[in-house]
Amino acid sequence: MTLQLEHVTKRFGAVTAVDNATLTIPEGNLFGFLGANGAGKTTTFRMILGLLEPTEGTITWNGGKIDYSKSHLIGYLPEERGLYPKLKVKEQLIYLGRLRGMEKAAIIKEMEAWLERFNVPEYAEKRVEELSKGNQQKIQFIAAVLHKPKLLILDEPFSGLDPVNVELLKEAVIDLKNNGTTIVFSSHRMEHVEELCEHLCIMHRGRPVVYGSLKEVKRSFGKKNIIIHAD
Ligand code: ATP
Repeated sequence: MTLQLEHVTKRFGAVTAVDNATLTIPEGNLFGFLGANGAGKTTTFRMILGLLEPTEGTITWNGGKIDYSKSHLIGYLPEERGLYPKLKVKEQLIYLGRLRGMEKAAIIKEMEAWLERFNVPEYAEKRVEELSKGNQQKIQFIAAVLHKPKLLILDEPFSGLDPVNVELLKEAVIDLKNNGTTIVFSSHRMEHVEELCEHLCIMHRGRPVVYGSLKEVKRSFGKKNIIIHAD
């Protein structure tokens, strides 16, 4: 199953957020989008998620339209985090897991395994507002993967995390990839993309200017005058 973008463009009035992007993301790939603020990464993700319609071009999964009614297909960590502050972590995840068609017992089992893995089993009973931003991000990550999606979209998953949590999340991402999940993520930082990705593209002003394996991208990246801003 391949995620395919063909000549995808998205315009907002006079602004071209994504400009004629053609990309192939094979099943099981860990694919990175690297680019500065405003390069078009989030807009690309929102089109893959079906939240925005491309102005031109097509996005297909396994050769056909993406069936968004299959709630278990996609997992999404949005750039703007959004949890319910007053709910306990457990309540939050039960609510979100049920929206994905999961049974309560399965949600709790998955939640406990992830909290254990992130060394915070006691967070199940804490209200979201009691957690630091970084820990809320881990909970949001768990919400994105709870239902074992085939395609996982992570928008800036490492931003705002301390180095220990960056490592925890990276290991989780690698394990999910090794279990067959197709993962697409964005970052401003070459080192995150470089460490994790088999394939990547560098977005610049809406265009995937360089695209391919890490080796290919590194080779051509050196020849192009593109500035990627740090976080
Ligand atoms: P960031 O890292 O800041 O999230 P990005 O690479 O994800 O950046 P996008 O958020 O996709 O970039 O934005 C690409 C361009 O499209 C920017 O110029 C942005 O201002 C514009 N844009 C995005 N969404 C809209 C919208 N709904 N209406 C108008 N312009 C938009």
